[in-house]
Amino acid sequence: MKSSIMSLAVNRRHRLAAFAVSGLILGTVLAVLPVARLPATTIAPFLPLFTMAVIATEGLTAYLLWTQFMITRAAFLAALAGAYVYTAFTVAVQLLAFPGVFSASGLLGASPQSAVWIWAFWHGGSPLLVVVALWVRRRFPAPLVAPGAAARAGGVLFGGPLLLSMLVCYVAIRHTDALPALVSGESYARLPHSPSGIGIALISAAALICLVASTRLRTMLDLWLGVAMLAGLGDIVMTLAANSRFSIGWYVARVASVLASSTVLGVLIWEISHLYRELHTANARLSEFAARDGLTGLYNRRYFDERYPEALARAQASAYPLSLMMVDIDHFKLFNDTLGHLHGDDTLTAVAAVLQSSLRRNGDFIARFGGEEFVVVLPDCGAQMASQLAERLRVAVVQRGVAAPFTPAGRVTVSVGIATTRNSELAAPDVLLAQADAALYRAKDAGRNRVAA
Ligand code: GH3
Ligand code: MG
Ligand code: MG
Repeated sequence: MKSSIMSLAVNRRHRLAAFAVSGLILGTVLAVLPVARLPATTIAPFLPLFTMAVIATEGLTAYLLWTQFMITRAAFLAALAGAYVYTAFTVAVQLLAFPGVFSASGLLGASPQSAVWIWAFWHGGSPLLVVVALWVRRRFPAPLVAPGAAARAGGVLFGGPLLLSMLVCYVAIRHTDALPALVSGESYARLPHSPSGIGIALISAAALICLVASTRLRTMLDLWLGVAMLAGLGDIVMTLAANSRFSIGWYVARVASVLASSTVLGVLIWEISHLYRELHTANARLSEFAARDGLTGLYNRRYFDERYPEALARAQASAYPLSLMMVDIDHFKLFNDTLGHLHGDDTLTAVAAVLQSSLRRNGDFIARFGGEEFVVVLPDCGAQMASQLAERLRVAVVQRGVAAPFTPAGRVTVSVGIATTRNSELAAPDVLLAQADAALYRAKDAGRNRVAA
């Protein structure tokens, strides 16, 4: 079972899906570029709505990557979680500081320049932090198992970006005077031509190239991180091309930023359900394994002890009869003593297979009771039917014709004892079992290779 998101390999289907989404992003950017600057209707709630989506998805992604880090101790995941928490926090502050959302000029004492500078720090910082994460993966490929190592690395790689976010937001809000002015009114026309605007686009493109070159996009996480970064680059290009808020390009850029922030979350959710499915299958296999006898493959004593009282209680509640059969191989000790225990084991397995294949009704089950004794539980089966079935089992074993020299019959035979509940009385599980056992001894006393009820 795969245990880490970092090890989920990409298959053809995933690669095709990622190429399709990437093509959609590129196509949309190219199609919208010529009309990016055209003003569109001002929809005031649009920005807060989309920004909320970015905050929620980036925050959730950071949390999930962090929990994956805690499980796998892979430093890369802590660093990537750091990149996501940086964005989540920065975007949350941008929303507070955005003019016209919570107050006309923005909260926290923001200046008209603050929101665009926070945008710049967001789009410049987050690809840089992805590059840091890629470097961390190269530098620390092995899980951090040394005591305290994971806590220290987690603190630096996750706490660092969070502090960095606080710092850049503080600068963008309290020290805007020290930064070049980029905004006038709704227009940020200076941004695309400023060193910061061009720099951000270059950083974002370089980080994407870095990711592709260093990972070759071989795992699910790398592949979809690449798609997310492409959407992030699309967001930047669109925003720069749009020149002012509430233009066509600006709206498209907001959609691109939601895509950029939710892509890796989608992969994480997919991966979690994938692992959940594997866990479910593994669990089912494990409990099936725990219920089986290692030699014969029949249910084991533990399974019988658990299921037989349940079956009996059900039968009594519904006033249907239940029959119990004890099956014991005749002269098996002699068989072992003359042919050896390994041969004895093979015979035991052969008899078990014959008994198992003679049961045809749903709900009937057979278990290895111990040694060369088997127990068959037959719900909704009266005494007469049980006798017929026992006889069928006995004959089937005889017809299987396993040679048993030195025994009177010359071949392997079984004796069967049957007990059946009566509607008028409630039988305890042990009582019925003892009755079947007593019947088995009567069959043995009467000469073996026979059925007694
Ligand atoms: P009968 O039941 O007809 O009275 O005679 P028996 O020889 O079968 O008597 P008993 O039930 O006392 O002997 C059980 C023997 O089964 C003892 C042991 O040698 C053998 N046996 C029990 N479990 C295993 C097993 O897992 N493998 C093998 N090879 N033999 C086993
Ligand atoms: Mg026996
Ligand atoms: Mg026995």
